[in-house]
Amino acid sequence: MSIGKTIAEQMEHASWIRRMFEIGARLKRERGEENVFDFTLGNPDGEPPLEVIAALRRVVEENRPRSHAYMPNAGFPAVREVLARQLSQETGLDYTADHILMTVGASGAINVLLKSLLDPGDEVIVLAPFFPEYQFYIENHAGRMVLVDTDDAFQPCSERIAAALTPRTKAIILNSPNNPTGAVYSNEFLRELDGLISGLDHPVTVIADEPYKALIFDGLTLPSVPALIRATAVTYSWSKALAIPGERIGYLALSPRLPDLAPIRDACTFANRTLGFINAPAVWQWVMAEVADFRIDPRPYQEKRDMLWQGLKHLGYVIAKPSGTFYMFPKAPIADDLAFVRSLMDEGILAVPGSGFGRSGYFRLSLTAPLASIERALPGFERAIFRAS
Ligand code: PLP
Repeated sequence: MSIGKTIAEQMEHASWIRRMFEIGARLKRERGEENVFDFTLGNPDGEPPLEVIAALRRVVEENRPRSHAYMPNAGFPAVREVLARQLSQETGLDYTADHILMTVGASGAINVLLKSLLDPGDEVIVLAPFFPEYQFYIENHAGRMVLVDTDDAFQPCSERIAAALTPRTKAIILNSPNNPTGAVYSNEFLRELDGLISGLDHPVTVIADEPYKALIFDGLTLPSVPALIRATAVTYSWSKALAIPGERIGYLALSPRLPDLAPIRDACTFANRTLGFINAPAVWQWVMAEVADFRIDPRPYQEKRDMLWQGLKHLGYVIAKPSGTFYMFPKAPIADDLAFVRSLMDEGILAVPGSGFGRSGYFRLSLTAPLASIERALPGFERAIFRAS
């Protein structure tokens, strides 16, 4: 038996995030847990909020008939109605249960949507730096990723996107707040992008991938992509904000203003089944309906952002201040980000090279490390920048 060439190639270039995680596990064994500062994975450090666990208990104890049964492939209608009401309030648009599909996380939602939109060779624009799995999701459905760079503050530019559009462009993935940079895209950019794609003579769908939507800092309001861009499909997951990434629960929300809405919805519903997901986990659908109004407090992450950002800036690192998520993307003090990440490793600090996100010369730090370990890691960051200068 042998594996396919495509997956062999993909594995060869696979995620730096995982590779660093594995190196980290080895270093912890060799040096002891307390001497390794792991800033690699986006795995929230805390436990899920008590409200989520209480809702889970209620759902299990109630044990309503058929609550674990097969359901319509798009998910339980009663759950989708709750989410539609909430999205309507957030966006001012008329979402109904018919616009919502419950999915296996945000990744399930993106795969279902790409499966529905792409023919072989179709193009999907992704803004760099980017969440590396997008490339695999696009290739899963025989599409081609087209990268468009953002500026030094990681803000996108609609002229650059315009230059990358071709008749084969089917979708543009926006991820704001952004992994790996923490950047939030502006109202102006979203309006410009709406003008740009609605002037085209073929449909282009904006995929607003928003797993970090709730993690916004400094009292900012996140510009609503579906309110500003007509052809939007939102992909969401509760995993990050609610610290439940192992529970695979998310949704796909097709905008009521999406051109060709009915066939896209039918295709997504079909793909949700035929890609092998069948449906999103039943129990977690009921739990999410119960906690739909629960709002996470982003301040603990903001506190960590402040400590790390101020600490690193003080040491001479150059970093765009993240406005959300739990990531930070500092510039490496030398051009070779891999070499710099290795130098951090000598200090017991685990980071992910920017090359893995499509922007070399940078590295990603995840704020899921505990506050105390951020403080204890700063002397190691200091020695590494000193060696580099
Ligand atoms: N999109 C982005 C930008 C992410 O960072 C992640 C996970 O890290 C995902 C999608 C996948 O989310 P989920 O775990 O809900 O599938």
